[in-house]
Formats: sequence, structure tokens, C-alpha cells
Amino acid sequence: MRARALLALPLILAAGAITPHATAADAGVAALQVGLHSHGLYEGPIDGITGPGTANAIRLLQKRAHLSVDGVVGPQTRRALGRFAKHRLGSRKLLVGNKGWDVASLQFQLAEHGFPSGSFDGIFGPRIDVALRRFQDWTGLKTDGVAGPATLGALTAPPPTIPLPLAWPLTAPVLGDRFGPRGNRWHSGIDLPADSGTPVYSARSGQVVWAGWRDGGWGFLVIVAHGRGERSMYAHLSRIDVRVGVWIGRGVRVGLVGASGDATGPHLHFEVRVRNASVDPLRALPLGEGH
Ligand SMILES: [Zn+2]
Repeated sequence: MRARALLALPLILAAGAITPHATAADAGVAALQVGLHSHGLYEGPIDGITGPGTANAIRLLQKRAHLSVDGVVGPQTRRALGRFAKHRLGSRKLLVGNKGWDVASLQFQLAEHGFPSGSFDGIFGPRIDVALRRFQDWTGLKTDGVAGPATLGALTAPPPTIPLPLAWPLTAPVLGDRFGPRGNRWHSGIDLPADSGTPVYSARSGQVVWAGWRDGGWGFLVIVAHGRGERSMYAHLSRIDVRVGVWIGRGVRVGLVGASGDATGPHLHFEVRVRNASVDPLRALPLGEGH
């Protein structure tokens, strides 16, 4: 174990300090960003963080509405967003057909809890409905697709974490896109750029439950079930080396890095789910010295 850690350390350091993200994102800010975007004032990421782009868009909105341009979102600035900002989260029950600020907040919170639903747009369509029902099922609530006080209360709990430790699926991991907001969507795993043909190893022992092509952008995909509802997913592979049903140990080669499915270049999209909720894999991976 020690030898392995020492071997991996320089490689991880070469990729820069890899630490899990502190969740500084705010669903209200994400909803504001969706509103600013729908008014053509903001083209930046929907990440729930008030950066310079968001602050600039707030000032543009205030200027356009002939308000004092202070960059602070008070009641008047909210009103300038029109119908979109009419309903604060919790002021009504949300279900299919609703639109606006509260829907965008709900959508962001569901993504943070592992149930993303496509682009953040503040429109309660079928994808939010599916995500909401999965979250309700996950928390043991009635799966009615209606976000009322019980659901919103459950969303105030911290997002789930991974119960079991994992090993890196590549021997020389370089961290690309992290788990979290990306553009106007949620990235539900981590990307590890690597040359096509680089071996991919199972992050933990378990049973192979998927080994083949999967629609929806995954490309050639392997899924390993580890027990306790935990699954690891290895996407965009160029080759698969395991079959469905077999039990494998940790560190067994499951395939090779590729760019199959929706991938702009060769990389491993590594995703971990706990009872169907996607969780940040970095929280369960060894992060250099001391681990
Ligand atoms: Zn990815």
C-alpha cells in the first residue's frame, strides 16, 4: 500500500493540487443566473457563484430597468426579472408545467444531491419530474413528483457521500473537468484525460453489471456494482475487457480509454452512484500524501 501511494504521489502532484470542491454554490444565485440568461444578460456558467460575469449582468439589468446600479439583488432588481422571479422557492408546490426562479432553484438543488436534469432553464419538464421522483425515492418520501415542504426540507440536508474508499481507475491520473456545474448543466462525474488505449482499472471489487454500448452519450461503458448500492461507471471506452455477471477485484482492467459516445477527445469519464445518486468521486479517492 505504501509503495503504491508513493508511486502515485508525483503523478497526482503533477496534475496540481487535487482536492474535493467545497460547495460554495448557492441555488438562489443559480436561479438568478438562469433568469439573467433568459433576459440575454448573462452567458456564463450556471454555477451558483456570484463571479464578475454575474455581477456585471446584475448591473446591466439594473441599468436597463433604470434602478440604482449597485450590483446588489434586492426586491426591485428581482422584480426587474419579470414573471421569472415571481415565485421564491417554497412559496408554492412545484410540479410539471411550472416555470421560474423557484423551479431553477429546485433543479440546481436536485443536481447537487446527485439528480441532474439536463440544462438549467427553470422550466419544470419531464426530466425534472424524473429527477425529483428519484430523489424522493432516494430519501424515502412519497414519489409523487410534487416538490412541497417535505421535499424542499430534504434538499436542505448535505448531498450524499461515498461510503466506501476507491482506487484511481488510471495509474497516472490527470484531473480534467470536476464533478459539479459545467456550462449550463451539471457534470455528474470527473474527467480524466489520457491517451486512447490507456488501461482503465476497477476502482473497487464488485460485479460487472453493464459492459457494452450505452446511448445517451456514454459510448462504450462498464458499470461495476460494489454492494451497499454503490456503483462505479467507466465511460467513453475504446475497448471493453470484462463481461456482464463476472466478479472482479480492485485494480482489474475493465477496458481502454477512448472517445466513444459524446466525447470531444480521449478521456475517462468516471462516475460513482450511491443508490442512483451521483456523488463526487474525489471524496472517496486517495489524494496524495497522508492518504
Ligand atoms: Zn465527463
